[in-house]
Amino acid sequence: MRVVAALLCFLLATCTPPKTEVRETRYVFGTLVEFVIRGADEATAKHAIAAVDRDFQRMHKDWHAWKSGGELVALNEAIAQGEDRAVSPFVLPLIEQAKRFEDMSGGLFNPAIGNLVDVWGFHADEPPQGRMPDLAAVRALAAQAPSMHDLTISDGVVHSANRAVSLDFGGFAKGVAMDMAVAKLKTMGIENAIVNAGGGLSTLGDAGERMWKLGIRDPRDWGVIASVELMGGESLHTSGNYERFVEADGVRYSHILNPHSGMPVDHLVSVSVIHTDGALADAAATALTVAGPQAWTEVAKSMGIVFVMVVDKQGTVYASSEMLARVTFEPGKALKVVASEPLSQGVVLSQMRQSVSPSIR
Ligand code: ADP
Ligand code: MG
Repeated sequence: MRVVAALLCFLLATCTPPKTEVRETRYVFGTLVEFVIRGADEATAKHAIAAVDRDFQRMHKDWHAWKSGGELVALNEAIAQGEDRAVSPFVLPLIEQAKRFEDMSGGLFNPAIGNLVDVWGFHADEPPQGRMPDLAAVRALAAQAPSMHDLTISDGVVHSANRAVSLDFGGFAKGVAMDMAVAKLKTMGIENAIVNAGGGLSTLGDAGERMWKLGIRDPRDWGVIASVELMGGESLHTSGNYERFVEADGVRYSHILNPHSGMPVDHLVSVSVIHTDGALADAAATALTVAGPQAWTEVAKSMGIVFVMVVDKQGTVYASSEMLARVTFEPGKALKVVASEPLSQGVVLSQMRQSVSPSIR
């Protein structure tokens, strides 16, 4: 009888898993990262979140271009000195990935422009206000045309043919981190989760038999302009030139730079991208911000991006027809909506997360 009772409990436990929701927030990458885990018991969820948080701390240290003591800082110093340096398998895949994204974006996404980011002051958690950088220095740096392709890697040792290269993974590291976070949660027995770093998030499973419903921020007033449903395994990344900027003489200079001129982009306000590869979605959101109103559809196509929504300064929304089919606008928020041509031709929609797999010792 006791055996039957025990078996019954076991069956009930497996048939109806506890409907818990665990929410926790961590501060990392200079921002708050929210975890939502559904359908797992609390102890498992908390244990998994703690493990991901440890990974985040390592990413923050070793992928940061300016926090001393990390691998990327040491590599950048070596490059500036004209020296070669061995890089660990925790950093190497990001370099390879960055090369790919630079190619796919026709050079608009360029993580080799760390020195330009530095001159503008965007390396600081709080960019300094009220002063312009030395524009002659900006022009001189841009003229040295730093590119990921200046780097060659042999047996894990990085050599740069250009001492002006300085790596800054800020344009896609959050995408890599959010993807790695949900992948780690999965290996730790979590089936349904969302890891959300504000401007970028990745999902796993569903939100309790429903898709995950997320808001896309209105760049004009910090409210929500539209909502979108995500399937498990999709990521949503938004880049904006409204959030981080240097203000001088009443002009706002955004933290997203045109690598060719070294100057901040000023045309678009925000770009949101959905893709199953979060690193690519993050890189593309940055690249399409640089591409601007004339070129974003072309660059989206060359990067294999189908779901894009752009909001400009006037509150006009431009979106691929595929994206429009997925979003619901908040009443009265989008002043005008313009559908672009479809972007999905020739793109394999079922592409899965496949990008980087930095190994964590
Ligand atoms: P967020 O800061 O919200 O993650 P992004 O993903 O758009 O926004 O990344 C912006 C950061 O990327 C900048 O702060 C800078 O470090 C870096 N960056 C700026 N311009 C470029 C560019 N053209 N290509 C690659 N990285 C860039
Ligand atoms: Mg980005």
